[in-house]
Amino acid sequence: MSRSAHPAGPRYADVLPEGHYTAPPADLNALDPKVWSRTVARNADGAVEVGGIDVRALAAEFGTPAYVLDEADFRARCRAWREAFGTDADVFYAGKAFLSRAVVRWLHEEGLNLDVCSEGELATALSAGMPAERIALHGNNKSVREIERAVEAGVGRIVLDSFQEIVRVAGIAERLGRRQRVQIRVTVGVEAHTHEFIATAHEDQKFGIGLADGQAAEAVRRALKLDSLELIGIHSHIGSQIFDTSGFEVAAHRVVGLLKQIRDEHGVELPEIDLGGGLGIAYTSDDDPREPHEIAEALSEIVTRECAAAGLSVPRLSVEPGRAIVGPTAFTLYEVGNIKPLEGLRTYVSVDGGMSDNIRTALYDAEYTVALVSRSSEAKPMLTRVVGKHCESGDIVVRDAFLPADLATGDLLAVPATGAYCRSMASNYNHALRPPVVVVDDGQARVIVRRETEEDLLRLDIG
Ligand SMILES: *Cc1c(COP(=O)(O)O)cnc(C)c1O
Repeated sequence: MSRSAHPAGPRYADVLPEGHYTAPPADLNALDPKVWSRTVARNADGAVEVGGIDVRALAAEFGTPAYVLDEADFRARCRAWREAFGTDADVFYAGKAFLSRAVVRWLHEEGLNLDVCSEGELATALSAGMPAERIALHGNNKSVREIERAVEAGVGRIVLDSFQEIVRVAGIAERLGRRQRVQIRVTVGVEAHTHEFIATAHEDQKFGIGLADGQAAEAVRRALKLDSLELIGIHSHIGSQIFDTSGFEVAAHRVVGLLKQIRDEHGVELPEIDLGGGLGIAYTSDDDPREPHEIAEALSEIVTRECAAAGLSVPRLSVEPGRAIVGPTAFTLYEVGNIKPLEGLRTYVSVDGGMSDNIRTALYDAEYTVALVSRSSEAKPMLTRVVGKHCESGDIVVRDAFLPADLATGDLLAVPATGAYCRSMASNYNHALRPPVVVVDDGQARVIVRRETEEDLLRLDIG
């Protein structure tokens, strides 16, 4: 049982024994479409291409490591969410999963809204032309300046996270002569099959206002009294990498219970509820995520049923997928460096990145898969651990991976499903230069976030 097990999914939490690995896959050259982005395939040479471009060409032009993002897949996922939820609901993409100006433009074009949780994310959204009314501001400790910028810009909603913040946002809105639309984030006491690091709706944690002890009802009471706030709804986010909707069911039941209490007490029916994000993706072939339309049907069925039971009209629903949109759209391309066979144990394969470009394995024991992508191979499988080049033995990219036994220095490997929480959590540890994000689409490749340079590093170090 691992100290920091998790969010590749519930089965990773306390279930697998240390050192667990599955049997080698039947075909090491296969690319499971659940795990890889839509346009990924092997070409006649046996090399992998994405968006019609051979990874060897990408490595030659843009270097490694690099995040390679499949634009067609990103847009298709946006559309699938948008269409699944229809016009009675809003889909807010959670920008913290990965945000850049190109991404903001795609979201805008595909009709999605955007969650931001910092000034930097807000600035990125606004600078790429996302209309402010389609932006929501989150965070458990928003600064005065962040709130001011958001209110001034006219964001569609600020999600209030504490009693102090109710007063703070109201004060700022009043001073700026605005009436700010807000939601109140409540913790509904649901743990959503998830590890403590990212479980966010049980009581003993920093986010939101507790529902069970009447705190949330008190927050609503206070917010309704403040003229500079327009309370539009209740917000709940129950966790991450969730595979079934039962957690949402409990959350919706409790949120609707609060809406009913508000109606009975204040005579107002709040028009919106937000059930947050956290929908899981396939990091490995064992993960079985739901399709957006299944999630949409389940959530709207739950909300409709709960509202009918409470005698409320059905509020407008919003959801906030981050990982489920961007996660599967990208892989990280690495070059193989040193290969170190450890007799009777396994072979350590070092790549030219690591925990600076993917911290999730070290942070959550997340599971990933990896494939040789610069060629195919008929060699036998060998058990490997793919590790980075950082000064930490925990610098692991893929804990247990089968790769062909003829793997050689200079081969290219790709780790799929790294679109979410990899570039956005990347660091400069060991003064690593953070990798670029290269977008491929229809035979074209372009950089949307360039690789960091030594000048970038030294510019911050003013000596
Ligand atoms: C992190 C977060 C999300 C997105 O979570 P995913 O797991 O990427 O879907 C949505 N809403 C809130 C409030 C969050 O904190």
